[in-house]
Amino acid sequence: MKQLPENAIKCLDKGFVRLVDSMGGDDAIVQAARVSYGQGTSKISQDRGLIRYLMRHRHTTPFEMVEFKFHCKMPIFVARQWVRHRTANINEYSLRYSEARDEFYYPDPEHIQFQSAFNKQGRMGEVPADLKQKVQNYFKEISEKSFGIYLELNEAGVARELARAILPVNLYTEWYWKNDLHNLLHFIGLRSDSHAQYEIRVFSDAMADSVKAVAPFAWEAYQDYVVKGMRFSRIEQSLLEKQLPSRVVDDILEDIAYQITATLHYNKHREDSDLYQLYQKQGGSNSEEDFRLKWNSGEIMIGNVRELREFKLKLESLNN
Ligand SMILES: Cc1cc2nc3c(=O)[nH]c(=O)nc-3n(C[C@H](O)[C@H](O)[C@H](O)COP(=O)(O)OP(=O)(O)OC[C@H]3O[C@@H](n4cnc5c(N)ncnc54)[C@H](O)[C@@H]3O)c2cc1C
Repeated sequence: MKQLPENAIKCLDKGFVRLVDSMGGDDAIVQAARVSYGQGTSKISQDRGLIRYLMRHRHTTPFEMVEFKFHCKMPIFVARQWVRHRTANINEYSLRYSEARDEFYYPDPEHIQFQSAFNKQGRMGEVPADLKQKVQNYFKEISEKSFGIYLELNEAGVARELARAILPVNLYTEWYWKNDLHNLLHFIGLRSDSHAQYEIRVFSDAMADSVKAVAPFAWEAYQDYVVKGMRFSRIEQSLLEKQLPSRVVDDILEDIAYQITATLHYNKHREDSDLYQLYQKQGGSNSEEDFRLKWNSGEIMIGNVRELREFKLKLESLNN
């Protein structure tokens, strides 16, 4: 195998992802958003809060201000899935212009599995060693044979653009791939998902490392609100409305009143005597005695006031 370029993350047996360049980061998202929301102070915690707000509310354009350019090398069948992500700018190694290189993807034995019985687009189960060996032999045999024919056609002067069609899709190709953060996150959300094919997931996970390093707040917000967040359909919501006991919803609302109070107190210190009133203002309905007991338990979490209020509104709509 050829040496990996500097800073490249190895993917599969001969591929890689290398971040060539990036423009902006969390700061660029905040800067763009403040054009729409007006100037504000820009303390780190506020930047994080703003990015989380934007992600929660699907205000996506500020995320498009951050750009990533990658140099990637992947098998052609992976590139075929990758290229479906239409918002990227791509420049690929040309097999019309240049000769193909003798570099083919050979799957590791551990990734040779049976067709999944549950997922038409997946694999599962342990394949016996002799069948794994057969698969590996076939991959090698067909790759070497087709490459030999390709060379023969080349030497006979047949046009490279035609001769290449003899090569199988496990041949490696290379490209420069540039995209903005919003669309890159969308790509990673789809291609690092467990439903995506293993071979593209490896590349997507490698690109995710760059996103984490370049825009850590955006990455965190994407995980919290998109990857691990949950949306309910109208039908699911109406089931929840009908079936969820209102006392459960009331308990959560109580918890939120405590959390908002604790967060407001954390953000701006209040006198001890004012706390119960503040908690009542947030919709808390416990007696002052119970409030004091819980307040002093040290178990109340703090969060983001705006987010907690949004959660409260959602729950109240379920309770109606
Ligand atoms: C697990 C998995 C299985 C898949 N299986 C298949 C399959 O069997 N067959 C198959 O053909 N594909 C398949 N795909 C590809 C899939 O259908 C999408 O083409 C691919 O994931 C790109 O998604 P996208 O269009 O959202 O992304 P992008 O092309 O990156 O677009 C990003 C967003 O931009 C917007 N956008 C971009 N271009 C347009 C446009 N022209 N018009 C309107 N809006 C646009 C859309 O909102 C889109 O979501 C599969 C993908 C995955 C992840």
